Amino acid sequence: MRIQGFRSPGDGLRLHLNENTGGCSPRVIEAIRQLTPADIAAYPDYESAVLACAAHFDVDPEWALLTNGLDEGILMTALGSMGRERGGSLEAIVPVPAFDPYLASIAAVGATAIRIPPLADFGFPLEAVLDAITPQTRVVFLNTPSNPTGQAIPRHMLRRVAREAPHAAVLVDEAYVEFAGDSFLDELPRYENVIVGRTFSKAYGLAGMRIGCLIAQPDTLDPIRGVTPVLNLNVVAITALQAALKDTEFLPRYRAQVEESKKRLYATCDRLGLKYWNSSANFVLVRVGSRAASIAAALGARGVHVRDRSGDPHTPGCIRITAGILEHTETASAALEAIISSAAQATRGV
Ligand SMILES: *Cc1c(COP(=O)(O)O)cnc(C)c1O
Repeated sequence: MRIQGFRSPGDGLRLHLNENTGGCSPRVIEAIRQLTPADIAAYPDYESAVLACAAHFDVDPEWALLTNGLDEGILMTALGSMGRERGGSLEAIVPVPAFDPYLASIAAVGATAIRIPPLADFGFPLEAVLDAITPQTRVVFLNTPSNPTGQAIPRHMLRRVAREAPHAAVLVDEAYVEFAGDSFLDELPRYENVIVGRTFSKAYGLAGMRIGCLIAQPDTLDPIRGVTPVLNLNVVAITALQAALKDTEFLPRYRAQVEESKKRLYATCDRLGLKYWNSSANFVLVRVGSRAASIAAALGARGVHVRDRSGDPHTPGCIRITAGILEHTETASAALEAIISSAAQATRGV
């Protein structure tokens, strides 16, 4: 049976999809409650939401395209850049390990994905990415900080890629940038082929609403705008977005929790002798070893849902744990510690 969507793992802590584990701002709920039957019956009016979003990113409204989650922005970038000239001869570059929708979107438009493996410790493979650029390249998918590694791409490397692929759209996916604080947005006036992708699913806690935004020079956005459904966001999401942007205290408070949670997770890994990678996002990739799948399952059985990344050849033996509300992180750390130490005792025959 093929059923649409992600199945919920059931009760417990959702630390497997990098959501905001504390929920959205209460102002969002208040705003949604104000909606009337007439509001719901009408096709949505985007203007105020686009203006609010553009003001938030400090760009002209023509530079912003709201999307139904950044997932839609990724698909529309692929479609707008490669959809007209179908055929496997067009190429899109994807440093791996990567967020799955890049590859799915490239496949959807019948283009060829050029996968570039990382350097040691998930360093950004700049030279290999530059070498992969050809006249057929239409999109370069860059993700900083990266999901699943948490590693940021240095700005000078983003600039290099943008300069060396002037004929391609360079999508800089900043889904987690609120946690790292270094956005490429201020460089957009100088790089006409760069599109910055943002989402309100992660730091803002609006994943259930499906709101993302592409930001780029108007001429660069045009082909993407042209293939994006005109009424792609619903009225509840638009209302939620505007309320979320008004709550300026929400983000700093959550960011502080995430920072502290990451430190706790690092400390737990240090105690357990597990390799991890310092993360600029709201999750930590941890190498738990060859039993990763069963450790992830054991965590799930204890109500701590994490992402098993061990099936990806670029993250062997790894799980990815969302870092959010401190109390949740403590629960996750304790569960991980219990599972790893009982496994170690079993190995020693204790
Ligand atoms: C979560 C995520 C997104 C976007 O998510 P949406 O919920 O579709 O906005 C985009 N890129 C990366 C790398 C992500 O992890």
